[in-house]
Order: sequence, then C-alpha cells, then structure tokens
Amino acid sequence: MPRPIQATIHPEALRHNLERARQAAPDARLWAVVKANAYGHGIERVFDAMRATDGFALLELSEAERIRQLGWRGPILLLEGVFDARDLELCSRLGVWHSVHCDQQIDWLAAHKTQQPHRVFLKMNSGMNRLGFTPERFRSAYARLNALTQVEEISFITHFSDADGPRGIEHQLQAFLGATQDLPGERSVCNSAATLLHGMEARVRNDWVRPGIVLYGSAPDYPLHTAADWGLRPAMTLSTQVIGVQQLQAGDSVGYGSTFVADAPMRTGIIACGYADGYPRHCGTGTPVLVNGVRTRVLGRVSMDMLNVDLTPVPDAGIGSDVTLWGTARNGTQLSIDEVAAAAGTVGYELMCAVAPRVPVVVEGAA
Ligand SMILES: *Cc1c(COP(=O)(O)O)cnc(C)c1O
Repeated sequence: MPRPIQATIHPEALRHNLERARQAAPDARLWAVVKANAYGHGIERVFDAMRATDGFALLELSEAERIRQLGWRGPILLLEGVFDARDLELCSRLGVWHSVHCDQQIDWLAAHKTQQPHRVFLKMNSGMNRLGFTPERFRSAYARLNALTQVEEISFITHFSDADGPRGIEHQLQAFLGATQDLPGERSVCNSAATLLHGMEARVRNDWVRPGIVLYGSAPDYPLHTAADWGLRPAMTLSTQVIGVQQLQAGDSVGYGSTFVADAPMRTGIIACGYADGYPRHCGTGTPVLVNGVRTRVLGRVSMDMLNVDLTPVPDAGIGSDVTLWGTARNGTQLSIDEVAAAAGTVGYELMCAVAPRVPVVVEGAA
C-alpha cells in the first residue's frame, strides 16, 4: 500500500463556488482564474466542474494549450500578457486574449504579422505598482494600441491591492475610472475579494470579474470572514492516516527540538504528512487537525514526512485512523485551509499551491 496521504478534489464544491461567485456579480461575465495549475488543484481536474465559466484566465501559454486540448473554444486571457515577441504567434494560433502592461508588449504587437487581429486587455497600474501603465501614461498607450492593425478590440484591466483589507478599493477605482472614463471598451477590475464585496455596484462597471481563490473555497478576507460565512465549500481535502501511536508520560517531549513537553500522561498519533508533502513547517503546537473527524491539534515541530497530533479528544483513535489536514472529513466535519494557513502565518492560497508532487491527487466521483 502506498503512503496513505492523499489530496481529494471535490467537483461539486468547485461548481458551487463558481455559482456563488456569479451570484456576487450577476451582471458580469466571469473569468475563472486557473493560474498556478488551478491554484494547485490541477487544470485537468477542475476543468469539467468549471465549464459554466465564461472564460479562463491564467499566466502561461502552456496552460492555455492544455485548456484548448480539453475542448474549450471560449475566451482565454493571459493575465500578464506575453513574455516574448514569439509568444504572439501562439496567441494567434490558440485565439488567446492577452494583457498589455508595458511598451515592449506594444512594440512586439506592432511588429507581429498575423491574419487574426488580437483582443487585448490594456492594464493600468492604478496604485498597486506591480504591472501596468500609470493613469498618466494610459491614454497614450491606448492611442498606440488603437492605431495597430494587429489589434481588434481593447478592454481595460486593473488589479486591487487592498480589496480584502481596510484600505479598500476606492483610491484605485477612482484612478482607473478617471483615466478610462470616455474610452470605449469592456472593463475588468475585481478579484475574489472585490467580487464578493463590490460585485453588485454599478459604478465598479464589472464587464468581467476575475475570481480565483473563492472558486477553490477559501475566504479572500479571512479572518474577517470565513469561507463558511461566504457560503464557500472547500474544493480540496488533504487527508492521511495515523501510522504510529505513543503513550507519553509527564515530562516526555515530542519531535525535533523537543518543543512540546507533556505535562501529564497523554496519547499522541504520528501521522503520514510532513513539510515535504507541502504541509507548512511553520504550523506549530496548537494548529488544528481532524482525527476521525474530531478536532484536535498538532504537537511540536512538523518533520519532513510526519507530524504528531494530540489523541486526547479521540481516545478510540489508533493506527489507520483517518486524519484531515484541511478540507472535509468523512463525517462531514470541515477544517478550513484558511485556519491552518493562519497558524503558519500565511494564506490559503500558498498552501493549496504548495501541495507537493509526491502527494497523489484523486477527483471525487471520478472512475
Ligand atoms: C490571481 C489574479 C486574480 C485572482 O485573484 P484572487 O484573489 O485569487 O481572486 C485576479 N486578477 C489577476 C490579475 C490575478 O493575477
């Protein structure tokens, strides 16, 4: 038997979450963001459940090719645009739309020979200072693009730095609306947090929303809201089993560095999951974990291939007992990936993207 660790993808949860994102912005078309191999879930594994989307947004032409191979004829958007002039040829061939965020990308388009004019999303740096033209330079970039025969249609895109936090979107929205006001074209501004919080607002003018993380069942603004608060369901369960049991006496320590010391007799379970599986080493004593669907805690340091859990709340647990690191246990109890991520000082995004290649992945309900 292989090591018992496994990741399970839940298509029903993906379908539900996509519908949930739609409800949040009912008048918008929806880009399902599937960059980073669908946030670690696997493009091929999520594709069927996400067919109800209007388009797929991603970063790599190789990912776009995979989506076309799965039979998708609809829109695909490269969120960072092309990385090289030669990429434009493949964009033409695959019918892929792409962001344009810098002058070089306009130069490449101007030199590109194509029968098929491109649809592009001109990107504004409205304050995040990552990619895009500043509001001052936006209109001249638009004019350049608009003069190219290689370009068929221009839409406008920007990205919020604080949609999930106290600063909010207002300062960036004003910059974006101000500079695009009288330009003809569709607009796309909302990531998951902005879709949930502002998807219905007419002034945001959502022609296309771009939810990513919510599709996978994680709350973009945790701990302000939980995934359950937003009506989202975990799209991935990371599970394993107890492979060893120890009976500790008062004063006994657990794991590398002896960071946990028992103050009374207790039973611990050793489970087949460690940081080489993608479980964060920063999850210290107290990080929640489910054993037989019962909530308990990690003890001591996470090793490469194993970690220790407290079996006190589950006295009947032993070798072979089910362990849920995040997601949904067999008895239906849920443990949010956001809670585990918070214990490691990070976000659900990082954990789902970091599940290691050695972890087998199955799709629930697949033959
Ligand atoms: C990743 C990404 C998104 C999706 O962000 P979430 O927070 O996962 O919803 C949207 N737009 C762009 C440009 C992105 O890079």
